[in-house]
Amino acid sequence: MRIFLLSLGTFLIFGSSIVAQEFHKGFCGATEQLNKRLLDPVFKQEFEASQELLNQAANEYKKEPMKRGVVYKIPIVFHVLHKGGIENISNEQIVDAVRILNRDFRKLNADTLGIHPAFKSLAADAEIEFVLATKAPNGKCFSGITRTLANSDTTDGFEQVKMIRNGNDVFRGEWSANKYLNVFICNDLGDGKAGYTYYPMNHIEMIYGGIWILHRFVGSFGTSSVTNSRAMTHEVGHWLNLSHVWGSTNEPGVSCGDDNVNDTPITKGWLYNCPVGPTNCTSGVVENVENYMEYSYCSKMFTLGQKARMIAALKSSVGGRNNLWTTTNLNNTGAANPQLCLVDFTSSSSVICQNETVTFNDVSYNNVTSWLWTFPDGTSSTIKSPTYTFSEPGTFTISLKVSNGTQTLSISKVFTIQKNLTLPYYEGFEKNINGPLISNWTVVNPEKNASFEVTSQAARSGVKSATLQNFGQNVKSVDELVSAPFDLTEINKDKLITLSFRYAYRKLKSTTREYLYVYLSNDCGVNWSSKLYLDGSRLSTIAEAASWKPSGALLGIESDPEWKTIHLKTIDAKYWQPGTRIKFMFKNDAVNGGNNLYLDDINLYAGSPSDSIVKLEEKDTTTASVLRHSFSTFKLFPNPVKDIVTIKNPNSNQPVEVEIADLVGKIHLVKELTSTNNEFNLSLEKLEKGTYIVVLKTGDVKEIQKIIKE
Ligand SMILES: [Zn+2]
Repeated sequence: MRIFLLSLGTFLIFGSSIVAQEFHKGFCGATEQLNKRLLDPVFKQEFEASQELLNQAANEYKKEPMKRGVVYKIPIVFHVLHKGGIENISNEQIVDAVRILNRDFRKLNADTLGIHPAFKSLAADAEIEFVLATKAPNGKCFSGITRTLANSDTTDGFEQVKMIRNGNDVFRGEWSANKYLNVFICNDLGDGKAGYTYYPMNHIEMIYGGIWILHRFVGSFGTSSVTNSRAMTHEVGHWLNLSHVWGSTNEPGVSCGDDNVNDTPITKGWLYNCPVGPTNCTSGVVENVENYMEYSYCSKMFTLGQKARMIAALKSSVGGRNNLWTTTNLNNTGAANPQLCLVDFTSSSSVICQNETVTFNDVSYNNVTSWLWTFPDGTSSTIKSPTYTFSEPGTFTISLKVSNGTQTLSISKVFTIQKNLTLPYYEGFEKNINGPLISNWTVVNPEKNASFEVTSQAARSGVKSATLQNFGQNVKSVDELVSAPFDLTEINKDKLITLSFRYAYRKLKSTTREYLYVYLSNDCGVNWSSKLYLDGSRLSTIAEAASWKPSGALLGIESDPEWKTIHLKTIDAKYWQPGTRIKFMFKNDAVNGGNNLYLDDINLYAGSPSDSIVKLEEKDTTTASVLRHSFSTFKLFPNPVKDIVTIKNPNSNQPVEVEIADLVGKIHLVKELTSTNNEFNLSLEKLEKGTYIVVLKTGDVKEIQKIIKE
């Protein structure tokens, strides 16, 4: 078995910063991998037997007159292995890779015009085409693309395929190499490799008979580029039994060698360089530097001889290649008769603001040829990705009907256009049930591990806060808590706007470095600017080896040292408009591991920083008068308490109703209290030990604090 490698720099035009050293680094990784596999004598035997069969087939086929007019179609499946980052490339980028393969293998590439005269008549239309499969091994209709969330950063190809086989979103199990050309799109293949594959071979576990490639070498846009886009053409050449033009090594430019193809002259091979009509090995014989199986930057052709060798491989049973293009297999894999089996679309924003223009993108499959969109204002569109502007807040329906010419499918989706929030805004998380659904906030958790959620395990005020249970998360994890839009238009421009919040956090170890960012957007979350961040010891100087939460006994005490108050004063005039949003982002320390974060008392208001909460007086929201008062409007002391607690309510001379409930909501005591100096004593003698909620009602205003009974 031979493993082929493309170095990262293979197709870099004028890659002067890419030196041969880097290329050889990739080669060394291959030798290791190859030698490891060839230590298995059974494996070695199978490899050699397969090679013999293939060479026989190729030699036999050479004798036959070159045929034209028979096109071999191969079902192809792309398996994207990703961690939710840019390596989770778009369907469009993959469809583009199929387009490039078909262009190159059918000699439809425009640059054939520039082929050196010595090879112009030898450039082959290989008459091989690639069709995205639309049926999984179990018959399930799909798009020809599977996606797998990687649970490790391994660069071991067999481990990568194991993750795909056991964790993809379409069909978990064997995707046999005699039914599909499997392409494994990865983020890292180790040792600077851009891609690799095997010659056809019997007895290798079937799914492994595919092509590994970096996402940056798939298609010509997105994370890839035109320069990188022919790496797949080269790899498929190997997969169809072509070696490099200089022979079956990974070292171009070293010694003159042959590839067992008659019309590709002996060559040393070319790394990046593209001399015109080079004659390095045989005097007067021009070498085919423009071949796809070269490492030059000007690859643009297969020869007729290479075509014959590839067709011979496709007609051979070795590696099951002769089953791929049979009518039965094309039907079974849905390559011959793609069905329209899913209608769906995505929107460019998850939270949509008033007057925001949203792009909708059809993701239906397969072979959709027409679209009919219906919008709330009665207009329609017949393109794949239309835009629509929502001018009013409210709930609206958008419908899409797709067709492949014979079948049609429809879907309707409901979109809620957020009404802008106004100032002063206060979020103590008290009105939410525990969990990740938070009113006015969107929780973003791409890794689908721990996320921001409401908890009653700790609070700086009231009985709830938002937490990220980051302890024990050992993957690179980024979590976000994103606000609904605010309308800051009415802010008197002479005034400041301040964002205040409180957080509690501990490091795991002294070396832990985690980040809490605050971002602002003035276009409803399309673009974000970082306004402040706290990291490492600026976030906390204290390390705690166990899963941490703020101490219960200190809850609600204003001087609580476990909670820090942060004021953001740089909300400038750029943000004084509708559609301004706030984002908290936490990045964990994937190396050292981290600990938990708690957020509370998020407060956005006009004016300079206040350590006390700024909010509308609940009794009088119509006049929008702002009452500035402390979180702890009323004081409880001592806390913890043994028997008599004193309640001090500085804001009211009215009668006050006190209610004491436990954490599950059972009320233990209700009492109306009056006093002239706003101070009351209450006996808690009869309560059992534990944590209780004290609710103080003055007229319509309710305030809440926790108390510990000892
Ligand atoms: Zn190669």
